[in-house]
Amino acid sequence: MKLPLSLTNPNMASGSGSLMWFRKGLRIHDNPALEYASRGSTCVYPLFVIDPHYMEPDPNAFSPGSTRAGINRIRFLLESLADLDSSLKKLGSRLLVLKGEPGEVLIRCLNEWDVKKLCFEYDTDPYYQALDKKVKNYASAAGIEVFSPVSHTLFNPADIIEKLAGEPLWASSPLSVELSSIPPVGDVGSCEILQVPTLKELGYVEEYQDEFTPFRGGESEGLRRLRETLCDKEWVANFEKPKGDPSAYIKPATTVLSPYLKFGCLSSRYFYQCLQDVYKNAKRHSSPPVSLVGQLLWRDFFYTVAFGTPNFDKMKGNKICKQIPWNDDDKLLAAWREARTGFPWIDAIMVQLRKWGWMHHLARHSVACFLTRGDLFVHWEKGRDVFERLLIDSDWAINNGNWLWLSCSSFFYQYNRIYSPISFGRKYDPNGNYIRHFLPILKDIPKEYIYEPWTAPLSVQTKAKCIIGRDYPKPVVSHETASKECKKKMGEAYAVNQRLNGAVSEEDLRNLRRKFAEGDEEQQPKPRRLRQKLIN
Ligand code: FAD
Repeated sequence: MKLPLSLTNPNMASGSGSLMWFRKGLRIHDNPALEYASRGSTCVYPLFVIDPHYMEPDPNAFSPGSTRAGINRIRFLLESLADLDSSLKKLGSRLLVLKGEPGEVLIRCLNEWDVKKLCFEYDTDPYYQALDKKVKNYASAAGIEVFSPVSHTLFNPADIIEKLAGEPLWASSPLSVELSSIPPVGDVGSCEILQVPTLKELGYVEEYQDEFTPFRGGESEGLRRLRETLCDKEWVANFEKPKGDPSAYIKPATTVLSPYLKFGCLSSRYFYQCLQDVYKNAKRHSSPPVSLVGQLLWRDFFYTVAFGTPNFDKMKGNKICKQIPWNDDDKLLAAWREARTGFPWIDAIMVQLRKWGWMHHLARHSVACFLTRGDLFVHWEKGRDVFERLLIDSDWAINNGNWLWLSCSSFFYQYNRIYSPISFGRKYDPNGNYIRHFLPILKDIPKEYIYEPWTAPLSVQTKAKCIIGRDYPKPVVSHETASKECKKKMGEAYAVNQRLNGAVSEEDLRNLRRKFAEGDEEQQPKPRRLRQKLIN
């Protein structure tokens, strides 16, 4: 097991209690920070801080939720906290919930409570890096020991960057000791401790939405889901990522463990060990990058690159990102975000995102490609923001990494390979059951038109009670023309990036944009322009 990243101070605080600060890592199993907090302490304060900025309703946001998170993820988090509280109670403790700016709340608690150790899981996200620095500085100046182990990922990203990693150190040894009890909660003084709030108590109105995500939050549910997955040993052993069906929604084609891994309700290290156990007893099994272990390695890969790349979440100032003059077209962005592109495959996926906060990996590929280099040529950062808010598994490193990948801005450069918004989905689901479920307005469109309803004769549209252009939008672009244009633009942008060895300036991007705009004008259908002239 990785040794503690502990900061010790000769002027140790005199208290005998520990503060266990939960952020992600919302679990009891394989939680080295919680284990360390419990060891040799007379009392433990298990704390979660509700950050209003993250949790409170934002009436101006584009969908129900807070400024930073959609309502599905907030709900998932509250369920995870309630489950954690209940597990802590079984061990003789409870979750202390406080509200406020986390840094300030933490410092106040360290001041008021009988704390000699502050324990929390190490977090590589820039938001936590900044917050943790502030809290650590305060704690060490106050003589409080800080213990902040890496347990969210298989490897420590910093070790990988320094080329120190081989096998994960814990891989062949048992994980963190199972806790049978936790020392009692100490005196909380004047701090106003809350129960885990409900959505309603946070100010949300349940009628906001007609369908919530079917995935319940919490460690218990994450472990149950893992056990259920592991029951089918053959499926686990033969898992090969690109082979799954993105349209399978009744029984998804992958594990749907991502939201549990995101919040740390499930330890990726425990998951990894369970997979190794299945492989040991299997006649043969798939291997990375396509196997399930491979998926966990992808997760660690994105954590590592994200940690080691300044401005990883931006195009500008990001050394590994191609500089591309994306469009700033808010109308097209809104059509995509609100499932109004007129392409049922794309719109159904975007509805699943809004209603469930989870979609299959290849479904994410389809919509990300469509928004960026495939059809609309809108900036990947805009799509990333929408995913970041709406996904229940929204994860800073993985989300940015995959948007960089799908937009051919980094990692993957074959921009000529575009997902068709028509034929890709049809390959898996010729009858369009997935579309019919998420876009019920199209439920009676015959299968031969379900992926291109605008081609259905008016009589067919009338019979299906869905007139295209009235009940369901016409396509926002012609895929054939738009994808050709996108490829051309990507080719030109890549050439500039290559010529300037990546040092593409704002001026270069402006020039490219101007050139594209002139090209677009020339592309206007001439006969129509001529006809307009005649009419005028
Ligand atoms: P499984 O296939 O069962 O894989 C098991 C676990 O491996 C996942 O839970 C996840 O933790 C990890 N994993 C799988 N695929 C990837 C991948 N490509 N990159 C990194 N880790 C992976 N995943 C997130 O967890 N959070 C995100 O915010 C996120 N944003 C994405 C954005 C785009 C544009 C794309 C194309 C993909 C994104 N992914 C994201 C990656 C991937 O789609 C999901 O992890 C996966 O679909 C989750 O379903 P699952 O748990 O059933 O995956």
